Amino acid sequence: MIKFLDLQKINIQYQDQFQKKLQLILEKGWFVLGDEVKTFERDFAKYCGTKHCIGVGNGLDALVLIFKAYIELGKLQKGDEVIVPANTYIASILAVLQADLVPVLVEPKAETYNINPNLISEKITSKTKAILAVHLYGQLAEMEAINSIAGEHNLLVIEDAAQAHGAAIGNKKAGNWGNAAGFSFYPGKNLGALGDAGAVTTSDADLAQMIFSLRNYGSDKKYHNKYIGVNSRLDEMQAAFLNVKLPHLDSENAARKAIAARYTSEVKNPKIKLPYWSHSEDHVFHLFVIQTKNRAELEDYMKRNQVETLIHYPVPPHRQQALPHWNLLSFPITETIHEEVVSLPMSSVMSKEEVDFVIETLNKY
Ligand SMILES: *Cc1c(COP(=O)(O)O)cnc(C)c1O
Repeated sequence: MIKFLDLQKINIQYQDQFQKKLQLILEKGWFVLGDEVKTFERDFAKYCGTKHCIGVGNGLDALVLIFKAYIELGKLQKGDEVIVPANTYIASILAVLQADLVPVLVEPKAETYNINPNLISEKITSKTKAILAVHLYGQLAEMEAINSIAGEHNLLVIEDAAQAHGAAIGNKKAGNWGNAAGFSFYPGKNLGALGDAGAVTTSDADLAQMIFSLRNYGSDKKYHNKYIGVNSRLDEMQAAFLNVKLPHLDSENAARKAIAARYTSEVKNPKIKLPYWSHSEDHVFHLFVIQTKNRAELEDYMKRNQVETLIHYPVPPHRQQALPHWNLLSFPITETIHEEVVSLPMSSVMSKEEVDFVIETLNKY
């Protein structure tokens, strides 16, 4: 069986360094918000090209805390509208809702799966105050176009960069295109911890300070609480593991891109639509997503041939049971994507033989 993602194989490479970190932390006896978190925050900000990074508990909290911090700073108000892609993972939408803001859905471009900037302006009202851009599957959203619309209408731009660690156009990386960005280090992401973890990147010093405070009970000083904060700190142990893995992110992404290049040039089957991307560096292939008309048939065929595939995602946000007031809305491009996509095995540790086999299997379909 060719695994969709072999987390054991990815992480066992770093086993010795992980064990040394555990030993070090046991010896120090400092378990929350220590040197490992500080080091990671410094190095990940540097990696993304931002002035600040704030480690938090997970990717969803990273996004929620950005919105809540802007509310505390008076730049957003409860009830403000936020433009979000209709075609995204539910966490992007939940973050907006949890901050008591109103998500306004916009269809994607069918080729890139990312929000279509040409459809944003018609959704802007006097209540619109921000755009949440999602770099879906590892491909940067069209940030130049999005930033220019935001500039015209005086909107904040927030990136959901949970699938795009290291994706860049020129030297400008995901996490450094908007006012702030949320990252997830869930184990399956391109930079994955050994449990839940997340971070915010920003070059806005006021926002950074507010999030440092909100993630830790809204306190600036121990036992002095300025805001109604939460407990969503980046775990010290997870930060230590991330410090081991961050220096390898670029080479792991390069391995993903090499596999994507092979899939793209060697899969030749008229029943399969390959992904499209416009720049050479902007896609880090968190997922390699193909499209096919008869998805159930392809899934079944791949399974019979011992290749694990997954669906990202089977149900669009507006069709989720948790959001019943949206269920009758129609987003045809988003719906077709959700009906036809299939994700192929993709990770930095796939062997040449595994990639050969996936390609061969698809070409025989
Ligand atoms: C994974 C993910 C998140 C949420 O991250 P968690 O760490 O699981 O909370 C948010 N947005 C997108 C697009 C994601 O893929």
